Amino acid sequence: MEIKFENVSYYYNYGTPIEKQALDNITTEIKENQINGLIGPSGSGKSTMIELINGLILPTKGVVHVGKHRLRNNVRIINANNLRFDIGIVFQNPEEQFFLKTVKKEIEFGMKYFGYKTDKIDERVKSAIKMVGLEEDILTRNPFSLSGGEKRKIAIASVLAFNPKVIILDEPTNGLDTTSKESLVRLIKMLKDKYNKTIIVVSHDVDTLFKFVDNVIILSNGKLLAQGNKYDVFKRIEYLNSNGVKVPQIVQFTHKMEEKLGKKINDVDNVIDLIKEINKYV
Ligand code: ADP
Ligand code: MG
Repeated sequence: MEIKFENVSYYYNYGTPIEKQALDNITTEIKENQINGLIGPSGSGKSTMIELINGLILPTKGVVHVGKHRLRNNVRIINANNLRFDIGIVFQNPEEQFFLKTVKKEIEFGMKYFGYKTDKIDERVKSAIKMVGLEEDILTRNPFSLSGGEKRKIAIASVLAFNPKVIILDEPTNGLDTTSKESLVRLIKMLKDKYNKTIIVVSHDVDTLFKFVDNVIILSNGKLLAQGNKYDVFKRIEYLNSNGVKVPQIVQFTHKMEEKLGKKINDVDNVIDLIKEINKYV
């Protein structure tokens, strides 16, 4: 499902004395069937971009293309519900919204609440649980008895139950321990590789993000600072640093080794691969 921003600006409270420009003339593209990282300091406009993608808000200027939808100012979205089923958002700390007695009820709730029509709710719930790598017996458990990582996966399953084409995760690894983080990263990769989802991950943890994204979009103060293949974008270390954006440690370290060796090192995602690369030269 194609997602494109064409000269998009967004103002909160447009035309009032407390008007606030959250996005400034953004033109960019979310790559289909890839993992797209959306990066930027707090207040840079990440959440605003997400809300524009699923039609929760409409652009003040410009157009957001989402599949066959053209979202622009003052245009009522026909079939807004369909759009929301195509674009699944897992909000930050989603488990804080849990309130039902079983995992099964929790997953079903979203489908019923949004009026998702299917006569196969049970099947959908079971396949969503399978997609996040959990066993069916978790369905009868109380969501509050689960670990942090499991809760996060249940929240993702609630969104997968709609069978969205695009999955947006806002700070998915926030507050998880290392093991749960790694497990969640594997899950996100699998959603792309096995289930062909288009993924957008919002995060300020560039070190974790770098390990699994394909492309990045970097925002700063409502403006687009950089976009493209993660290796190309993060090679511009000085440019990013001077704009207050952290560069992943693995990229910084690779760069230092290149200077020491006086040789170009192939792009790597992790330390093990970097050591293999360095071993070719020493
Ligand atoms: P991020 O998700 O990157 O932290 P946001 O998209 O939430 O950034 O916010 C972008 C800018 O818009 C910030 O300056 C924020 O204060 C402002 N903003 C966000 N929501 C509102 C709102 N409802 N009313 C007014 N200003 C807002
Ligand atoms: Mg936000």
